[in-house]
Amino acid sequence: MPSPPIKLQLDTVIIGGGIAGLWLANRLQSEGFSIALFEHKALGSDQTIASQGMIHGGMKYTLSGALTGASEAIAEMPQHWRACLCGEGDVDLRNTRILSDHFYLWSGDSIAAKLTSFLASKATRGRVDHVPDSHRPPLLRHPDFKGNLYKLVDIVLDVPSLITNLAHNIEGHSFLIDWTQAQLHKDVDGRVSLTMRQDDKEFEIHAQRFIFSAGQGNAHLLKQLGLNSPAMQLRPLQQVLVKHHHPYVFFGHCMGTDTTPRLTISSHKLNTHEQVWYLGGSLAEKGTVMEADQLIAAAQQELSELIPWVDLRYAEWATLPVTRAEPLQPNFMRPDNAFVAPAEGCNNLIVAWPTKLTLVPNLANQVLDILLKENIAAGELAESTRAITQLRQVLATPPIAHTPWELAFPPSMSAEDVLSLKFSTPADDDEGQD
Ligand SMILES: Cc1cc2nc3c(=O)[nH]c(=O)nc-3n(C[C@H](O)[C@H](O)[C@H](O)COP(=O)(O)OP(=O)(O)OC[C@H]3O[C@@H](n4cnc5c(N)ncnc54)[C@H](O)[C@@H]3O)c2cc1C
Repeated sequence: MPSPPIKLQLDTVIIGGGIAGLWLANRLQSEGFSIALFEHKALGSDQTIASQGMIHGGMKYTLSGALTGASEAIAEMPQHWRACLCGEGDVDLRNTRILSDHFYLWSGDSIAAKLTSFLASKATRGRVDHVPDSHRPPLLRHPDFKGNLYKLVDIVLDVPSLITNLAHNIEGHSFLIDWTQAQLHKDVDGRVSLTMRQDDKEFEIHAQRFIFSAGQGNAHLLKQLGLNSPAMQLRPLQQVLVKHHHPYVFFGHCMGTDTTPRLTISSHKLNTHEQVWYLGGSLAEKGTVMEADQLIAAAQQELSELIPWVDLRYAEWATLPVTRAEPLQPNFMRPDNAFVAPAEGCNNLIVAWPTKLTLVPNLANQVLDILLKENIAAGELAESTRAITQLRQVLATPPIAHTPWELAFPPSMSAEDVLSLKFSTPADDDEGQD
């Protein structure tokens, strides 16, 4: 006779280990709730590892020449993250590397007059500074540079170190889930639970609240329960990666005539210490309908127009198709804020999309507000400790996702590797077989 399922009770179960799930797990843990986070691939997969790591204060949403809902919702975020990076915020990010403590906004030689005067106005004071020619970063310190240059108070984080830092803070509470052995259920009272079979044992996991923070995976998880609300929208992008030998480390948006930046550049080091520029902005939006070769040609054209003095003839190129997952908006607009809502038809399920890395503190606050409003308090410590111990015995810890640049440009063979290949001839192999 099969033994009865082992029942485990937790305060919160989070499904999806991108920035949303990891940040939320950190906050819930420090508020005293027991947590288990289930990830099906690697922590930070999909959007988080593919992001440019910019914690921005929203100035890029002012390219129409005015403050907008999006620019104001996000304005306080760099300050919030800075406190966390110093160990003085609501999440401890002292082990996260800062790639840059500023971000540039630069124009080609023709920038809309309305935007120029807006950036110089009182409305943006303290958030954006004009950069005099003498202070230009090395990439733009060329006599042919004719644009206007501004410096934003935004920060850029090294995303792999951010994921590692958040995962470390909740060590022992994140688990690799294999959905071929696990299933979500909804009972007649609308309560969600999770069952899984592992090492010949059957587990039944209950929680005061389940939270889906699986990015694009949220729609699929909801579907498993026969639900379709809150609904999701997808915005595909195709980023471009350029590996080159130039020393220019640069983080900035180039403004064009659209309200989205014409080009966004962030700089990332490979393990070999070579450098990759990661290109987004309008280029990546328009790139979704292009073949990789076509998009690379378009990127080469953009860079030769914007920074013609940089010789990229010997650069290596790659593209990354990636999809942004967000709550469905009227007319498919970009959402201004993080989204958190109870799932319709369930009474212990919350669904969340941060919509931007930057806004994830806001997502966690919204979840905590719901728990407070619904009088959810931390349960029995002994019971949750037993549940976590049982899970640790049967489930592995998920790894950290690899960056797109590591995957696009794997380390080339060392001289020693080449030599060993050269000497491993078919004749050698034959000899070995004898
Ligand atoms: C190219 C690009 C650049 C960006 N740059 C920036 C930026 O510079 N600044 C900024 O603020 N925002 C940026 N963003 C937006 C930001 O990256 C996303 O809003 C954010 O990362 C979303 O995080 P998430 O945790 O909701 O989703 P994701 O990062 O997509 O994570 C979802 C996680 O859930 C897991 N998962 C999925 N399905 C399941 C399942 N069934 N079971 C278990 N686990 C599951 C996935 O494996 C993954 O680990 C960028 C986005 C893109 C695509």
